[in-house]
Amino acid sequence: MKAAAFKQQNQMAIIEVPQPHPGPGEVVLKVHNCGICGSDLHACQYGMGLAPDTVMGHEFCGEIFEIGSGVKGFGVGERVTALPFISCGECEACRRDDGMHCAATRGLGLGQLPGAYAEYVMCGGQSLLKLPDNVDSRAGALVEPLSVGLHGVNRAQLRPGEGVVVMGAGPIGLSTLVWAKAKGAAAVVVSELAPGRTELAMKLGASAVVNPTKENPAERIRALTGREPEVVFECIGVKSTLDAAISTVGLHGRVVVLGVCMEPDQIRPLTCVLKEIGIEFIVGYTRAEFQETVDALGSRRIDPRPMITDIISVDRVPEMFEALKSPGARAKVMVEFPH
Ligand SMILES: [Zn+2]
Ligand SMILES: [Zn+2]
Repeated sequence: MKAAAFKQQNQMAIIEVPQPHPGPGEVVLKVHNCGICGSDLHACQYGMGLAPDTVMGHEFCGEIFEIGSGVKGFGVGERVTALPFISCGECEACRRDDGMHCAATRGLGLGQLPGAYAEYVMCGGQSLLKLPDNVDSRAGALVEPLSVGLHGVNRAQLRPGEGVVVMGAGPIGLSTLVWAKAKGAAAVVVSELAPGRTELAMKLGASAVVNPTKENPAERIRALTGREPEVVFECIGVKSTLDAAISTVGLHGRVVVLGVCMEPDQIRPLTCVLKEIGIEFIVGYTRAEFQETVDALGSRRIDPRPMITDIISVDRVPEMFEALKSPGARAKVMVEFPH
């Protein structure tokens, strides 16, 4: 079968790999859609220990093609999405729905197990979630990034009526925006430098989008709610953005960090002390959050489809990885397989 794989640092390629078959507890999906994620771009750019011919892609949905022994409750042809890792299901982390931190976890698409930039993908029977008929496969492949946003909003313990700043209008910032609105934020101001993403953030429910070099997002929140921002979500992850989040949040506010800064960075603890703020760092999601996202898509409580700016065939993955080095107005690029 055809797949898009990491070849070497800064180079993706289309390769032929054997079609997977499920072992006990495993399921093989015929992939419908798989989103391109910032962490894929990052892993390709920096190598990060990936072996040549690593098939990437961890934001996917498809139909069940083959079911391994011991997997109950699913049938061939059903449309599903899946958590992109296989964990033991028994340890303390797994029992608290934190399979990501299971010591035995193997992730899909970033080197441990093959990912879904491929016609077929093997995943864990325990990781599957059924998609309602009214949730199309493109939306199904958004469940993963949306669940990251939901995990951040949950960690913020956002209360209805609060004023929120989201820093960064990439896919994770937009997912966070969607969930902050759905969970009752009175105002969500998105701060973003790229003008092309403004319209997208507005379509997804932002109260305003400001360029932080020209306008302080905290002031815009004050104009909208009469108060300082209660919550700031840092969804950029480069040097100095965490300190900017700390400056932006109000007294007793909460900063939640979803951006992944790969370098040492500085903050001013005194500002944190004087404002008595909380800072939370998050990664991933729980299965319960995946399920809540699927349900919210089905009930139209959220509609993130404007987030998808491009739909491409798998053959175009290598060139798109190049193009996404300067994303411009692009947000989620969706790989689509014939189905
Ligand atoms: Zn991702
Ligand atoms: Zn475990």
